[in-house]
Amino acid sequence: MNYVITPPEQASVAVAGAEQRFPVHRIYCVGRNYADHAREMGSSGREAPFFFTKPADAVLSAVADQVITMPYPTLTGDLHHEIELVAAIGKGGSNIAVADAPGHIWGYAVGLDMTRRDLQADAKKLGRPWCIAKGFDASAPIAPITPVAQAGDIAHAEIWLKVNGQARQSGRIEQMIWNLAEVVSHLSRAWQLAPGDLIYTGTPAGVGAVQRGDVLEGGITGLTPLHVRVA
Ligand code: MN
Repeated sequence: MNYVITPPEQASVAVAGAEQRFPVHRIYCVGRNYADHAREMGSSGREAPFFFTKPADAVLSAVADQVITMPYPTLTGDLHHEIELVAAIGKGGSNIAVADAPGHIWGYAVGLDMTRRDLQADAKKLGRPWCIAKGFDASAPIAPITPVAQAGDIAHAEIWLKVNGQARQSGRIEQMIWNLAEVVSHLSRAWQLAPGDLIYTGTPAGVGAVQRGDVLEGGITGLTPLHVRVA
């Protein structure tokens, strides 16, 4: 193929214990998928989750357990952490049945859905899109992806985040309002899922602000932890 400009580099994420990388197609995110977080964001905790997206090149991929540096984004004074289980799609499809959904997942990773909370609050108030609050550059730090077969029992894993060694968020994957298979099924009715899609599956309670110099450490049982320094 001949292009009129140099094509952009393929966004990708490291794979645990391998040199090959996972190429990123799209990033889907689930909003309010843990009841306790939905309540802290002002809803009853029983509403259906909803979806938003980030650009594929918003990933900030760590290799092994290296500490990655995330630049503090412009235009915000209230950068929030949301620790999340990320599912990596290996097989695409539309209208995927809940029972078939697990067969579409290639692996799992620990991710952060970083959020300009002040701009999100403005967008909510004004009925505007969330892109500027959620889809900014480097807004999706992610640890290496572990293939499903090596990830253990993710459905019963624990998920947590520490900031400067202090516990901030903790929960269990089974606390999701919509489980992983239901999320994949629902998403595939709205979009055609493709190999390379990442799904950020929502965050448990305890979201809060981080400052320049803070070190975030996120983990999910059985997966490579994520270490991010905000600069
Ligand atoms: Mn989130």
